[in-house]
Formats: sequence, structure tokens, C-alpha cells
Amino acid sequence: MATVGFVGLGNMGAPMAANLVRAGHAVRGFDLSAGAMQQARDAGVQAAPDAAAAVRQASVVITMLPAGRHVLSAYPGLLQAAPKGALFIDCSTIDVDSARQAHALAEQAGMPALDAPVSGGTGGAAAGTLTFMVGGSEGAFAAAEPVLSAMGRSRVHCGAAGAGQAAKICNNMILGISMIGVSEAFVLAEALGLSHQALFDVASASSGQCWSLTSYCPVPGPVPSSPANRGYQAGFAAGLMLKDLRLAQQAAEASGADAALGRHAAEIYAALAEAGHERADFSAVINAIRGRSQR
Ligand code: NAD
Repeated sequence: MATVGFVGLGNMGAPMAANLVRAGHAVRGFDLSAGAMQQARDAGVQAAPDAAAAVRQASVVITMLPAGRHVLSAYPGLLQAAPKGALFIDCSTIDVDSARQAHALAEQAGMPALDAPVSGGTGGAAAGTLTFMVGGSEGAFAAAEPVLSAMGRSRVHCGAAGAGQAAKICNNMILGISMIGVSEAFVLAEALGLSHQALFDVASASSGQCWSLTSYCPVPGPVPSSPANRGYQAGFAAGLMLKDLRLAQQAAEASGADAALGRHAAEIYAALAEAGHERADFSAVINAIRGRSQR
């Protein structure tokens, strides 16, 4: 069993740390927020007085922080405090450049490192069913297996440093765009007098089939578990989708890849967030599309 230092015990980090405790790992955690610390303590995480104390005896260090700047400002202190050879796993969703810089800092300090962002949301974090998209060496990936398997159902080794973050933003760019496409189709169907169920029955068995339609349908009814059936309560918040689309745009601009629909999708979710729906599920984008339609 590993001794895990866990930094960032928010909506995702706290349930992930709780699953590590449940699997028998010793977990020492730290978060800047007193509320997050209390929640983690209730789940059996040992509360450390600061980040360095959380990782001082750790064989594995996990970070689950908001953005690249938080990871890069935390890493130097964590790398200094952790025992030599500790495995550093950053599960935050951050930009590819910052992920590569974090790998470089770890390498300079002689520590193996992985970027391992997740999909599956807070529900997957609580249920231990996350998917990890992992970048880093084969050896580090193999060493991470016992802790990643305690927090998630699947792990994909995507390639070298930063490849996990690259996979995450490419996947979420598909998701953000496809949700807009599915929502536009339902709004057009409404305008044409076609029922939601009829469109669903046809498209889910035809070439329009995709996850945004069949697992996360943006209208109530056809998929009872989708957020549309509970007032668009997230789920996956529009603000987080916007964050990921902006990371994808940043990467597209830096690498020279043309991602015109990704850019347009980011503008559409930005408008949704600015209209006060940042915390709503991202499938609420259908209401904005209806609002812009002339009927
Ligand atoms: P959150 O805001 O709930 O948690 C982040 C935590 O980090 C906060 O509790 C904050 O106090 C803490 N923190 C910030 N700086 C710190 C520092 N220097 N030391 C210690 N603690 C610090 O966010 P979240 O929803 O848990 O998301 C975490 C990461 O996971 C983000 O990168 C997010 O994009 C990604 N993610 C979130 C979801 C989701 O559905 N919430 C899904 C997939 C990926």
C-alpha cells in the first residue's frame, strides 16, 4: 500500500482521496480551504498543516488543483519536501505547456512524474469510476497503477509528458462541439414540429448518434438520467466546459492547428456563462440556442 500526499481536496480531490483511503492507502492531505479539509478529514484523510507536510513521507504525490499556475507554483515546494523517488501525479486539467513544465521540474528534482487528467466528473470521482488519460514514461505509468485503479475504472497511457492533457482537451473539444450540434438539431426539430422522441429514435440509430445524444440528451425524456431531466443541474458545469475549450484553443493557436468549430463553441459557452449559467450543466446550452431562435 502506498503513502499518498494529496494536495487539492476540492469537489474532485476529496472523493478521490476518500477512495484511496477506502482501498487501504495511507493518505495525508492538504487544501487551502478549511471546508475542503474538514470534508477530507471526515473521509479518513489525515489532515496536514501545509502542503509540504502532506508529502514529506509520501511515496506518491497527487495534485488536483484548478489550473496550470496553481500546479506550477505548488510543484517546487512539493518536489523539495517529498522523499527522493516519490512518484508525482498531477490529475488537474491544465494546459499542455504547464504540464510539460511540471514534468521538467520533476525531472530536474529526480522524481518520476505523470500528467493524469480525468473524465467522469464528481459522480465518477465519488464512485471510483474515473477515466485517467496519462502522459509520462512507461515505468511511471506502471508504478501508478495501484493508486489510479483505486480512483478510476480505466487508464489510458496516451504517450510522453503532456499527452494526457492533450487527450483530455481534444476529447472535450469533441464533446463541447457535439453538444451544440445535438442541441441545434433538437431546436430545429421543435421549429419543424418534430417531437423530441422521434428525433431521438431516428438519430440514436443513425449517423447522428453520439454520446451527447444517447447518454447526455439535452432535452428531458429520452435519456432519463441526463441533466435535462433535473433542471440542468450539473453534471459537468458550463464553466468547466468553457475552461477546457479555452485550453484547447490555446493549444490550437500555439501548435498552428485549425480548430474553427472549437473556437466558435468556446464563444457559445462563454455567452452562456456570461448570462449567469456558469454553474448549470453544459447541456443547458440548448436553452441559449432556443433563446436566440426567432419563433
Ligand atoms: P475545486 O475548485 O472544487 O477544487 C480545487 C481545490 O484546490 C480547492 O479546494 C482549492 O482550495 C484547492 N487549492 C488551490 N490552490 C491550492 C494550493 N496551492 N494548495 C492546496 N490546495 C489548493 O475544483 P475541482 O472541481 O475539484 O477540479 C479540480 C481539477 O479537476 C480542475 O483542474 C478541473 O478542471 C478538473 N476536473 C473537474 C471536473 C469536475 O466535474 N469538477 C471534472 C474533470 C476534471
